[in-house]
Amino acid sequence: MSNNELILITGDKQFYGQTRKAWVPMDVSLIKERLSEKGFDVTINTIQDMCNRIINPENKTILYSFSQKDNVRQYIRDVLTFLSRNNRIIPSLDLLYCHENKGFQELYKKDKGFTGLKAWYFSSLQDIDAYDIPYPVVLKTIYGSNGKGVFLIRNRDELEKQVGALTEIGLITKLDLCRRRYFRKRTYPDYPNHSDYKDYLQYKEYITKNENFILAAFGDMTRVPTSVGSLQTVVASKNSWIKIVYSPFKALEIAKNNPGKDVVFFGSGFETTVPGIALSVREAAEGKVDNYSVLSAFWVIPPPLRVIVTSDSSIHGFIYPGHVSAIIGSTPYSFISNDFHIAGAIAGFEPADVLLAVNSIIDQIRAGKPVVDNVYGRVVKPGGNPAAQKIMKEMLESKDAYWRGLGKIPASGLKFKKQFSFYDAELKYGIDLKFGSGDLSGCRCGDVLQGKISPQECPLFGMACKPDSPRGPCMVSFEGACSSHYKYSRRYT
Ligand code: SF4
Repeated sequence: MSNNELILITGDKQFYGQTRKAWVPMDVSLIKERLSEKGFDVTINTIQDMCNRIINPENKTILYSFSQKDNVRQYIRDVLTFLSRNNRIIPSLDLLYCHENKGFQELYKKDKGFTGLKAWYFSSLQDIDAYDIPYPVVLKTIYGSNGKGVFLIRNRDELEKQVGALTEIGLITKLDLCRRRYFRKRTYPDYPNHSDYKDYLQYKEYITKNENFILAAFGDMTRVPTSVGSLQTVVASKNSWIKIVYSPFKALEIAKNNPGKDVVFFGSGFETTVPGIALSVREAAEGKVDNYSVLSAFWVIPPPLRVIVTSDSSIHGFIYPGHVSAIIGSTPYSFISNDFHIAGAIAGFEPADVLLAVNSIIDQIRAGKPVVDNVYGRVVKPGGNPAAQKIMKEMLESKDAYWRGLGKIPASGLKFKKQFSFYDAELKYGIDLKFGSGDLSGCRCGDVLQGKISPQECPLFGMACKPDSPRGPCMVSFEGACSSHYKYSRRYT
């Protein structure tokens, strides 16, 4: 690179701003004269000449002037980026970016070893949760000068408030985002390719792109995150809605009141909720409500328990779920104590119920006599609920199903028998489901469910994943393992 060939890049009409008074031009002819006296070979060109390749310098040293106007600054940065590939730029691009962006400035300082003043660079509040920030701190936006975008922050609440104020988007932008989402949905000529979709939750894609649908679901289900968002973030198609209901019978009532619409209840759950959903289908069949159907994701508990105890010998005891046991009773768990010699107790959901179950399990282990104890006798009977079992037997049959972290387990799910297929949304609308793990990146629900790790061992726990921003199903509902740990762990309350 030549040492004495200099190019002065100016703005329009040879504008070359001063450092302290950028709006006052310097005399570039005089600069050229002085530099020439020092032995430099100086040429003067405008930034436009450079941009449009009127001249295309190589191996030169380039000095440039900047601007106060945002659009011109961007223009100059773009041009300099390309000029820097074959020329020496003064000040360097790195320094220009530092000047323009305080975040980049922080990264640059760290890169050069300037770590005297402790500082962090974050893109969101969630990122901040992973660090112990010693308040008070100074918050700076990446853009801003002359004291703008600088705030004294004394605690986390103040931080949230300030970041919320800084990141709030205006009405016009919100309307624009709505418009974009609407048109993006509307311009799909056909169904998107679902070959990569991996989760039951992605049922919603099939439903929400069709017009005149009402998708009804339990509130919890609308919060379950998937790789394509949740039911709370999806935009329903024309004349379609997503309704949160507390019972499948509410969904059936909606169907009766809206004969012009197809109402699909997203019926997901275990033995506890399945009988009620099945009953709603029976009522629909009896009342000939032909615009009602159920998109079912039914699972049964004993088969995955068998898979877990067969593959993992480190489990010492099970607290069996009280609500499921209220339906199936205690007998379906007996293989665990009889064949695998593992202690267990059926528990309710009050703290005392859980303690009773833990106490029972410890007693069984100490006595070397594992059984299926029932410490939730006020609700769970040994034979369960015969009426609910009868409904399931009459209306449903078993099928293979997929489980997080466990994969496909034979006969671990339920589907409607043939005589009720008219109310099976999967068949009614020809939905071709693809299954997979469906876990969002980093979520270790599968390991948590198998007892391989405790929720705190998931790197996202309490940081990117919290009850109000769940990354996995174990954090969604209040009885989920991660959600309970979050609620009762001292560190996070
Ligand atoms: S904390 Fe639990 S729910 Fe959240 S990402 Fe981790 S394993 Fe999944």
